[in-house]
Amino acid sequence: MSQSIVLFGPPGAGKGTQAEAIVAATGKPQVSTGDMLRAALAAGTRLGIEAKKYMEAGELVPDNVIVGLIEERMTQSDAMDGVLFDGFPRTIPQAEALAEIAEVSLVISIEVPDDAIVERIVGRRMDPDTGDIYHITFKPAPSEIAGRLIQRKDDNEEAVRTRLSAYHNQTSPLAKWYSQKGVLATVNGNQAMSDVAAEIAEVITS
Ligand code: AMP
Repeated sequence: MSQSIVLFGPPGAGKGTQAEAIVAATGKPQVSTGDMLRAALAAGTRLGIEAKKYMEAGELVPDNVIVGLIEERMTQSDAMDGVLFDGFPRTIPQAEALAEIAEVSLVISIEVPDDAIVERIVGRRMDPDTGDIYHITFKPAPSEIAGRLIQRKDDNEEAVRTRLSAYHNQTSPLAKWYSQKGVLATVNGNQAMSDVAAEIAEVITS
């Protein structure tokens, strides 16, 4: 079975940002269930419409929907040597389903305290043309593209609080689950992005 990496952490930990460098370093394609769901929503598919209410409220989309998406994605040829999962798995049943499909050789957990998360997420903006992520204070966009930036619908304080409680109740138990399997590595996500990237690079090469 192929060797995949899981990028794990609360919403706003910087998973999407850090994924770029990991993709460049490992050659593994990024598989983000959040991006896949947003694409389904934008395309108006049945799956996207079904997922919409959960996403906008900040709740998790049901496991069977997510596992179905991943099963299909993993049949594509670029996934054969393993992928970088971003935002998946988020529950123990998802991790159990994943274990049947791919071998997870490394789980990188980016740790950020809750109080830092809300500030990060509420100021987060996205370039709809490139998918690049900015922050109104921590990473302002160049002025020529600033006008087209959008804010995710679930990047408001109320949805963030719901997403954080979903993380603590349903997702964080996975850290122990993967730790018991001997594949968990933790990095400090509460520092400059370049320092987080350096810690991740060390974990990947060790
Ligand atoms: P993200 O972009 O990873 O923050 O995901 C945005 C939203 O999509 C989440 O708040 C959930 O509603 C949904 N979602 C993404 N990935 C998953 C997953 N693995 N399991 C359940 N829901 C998910």
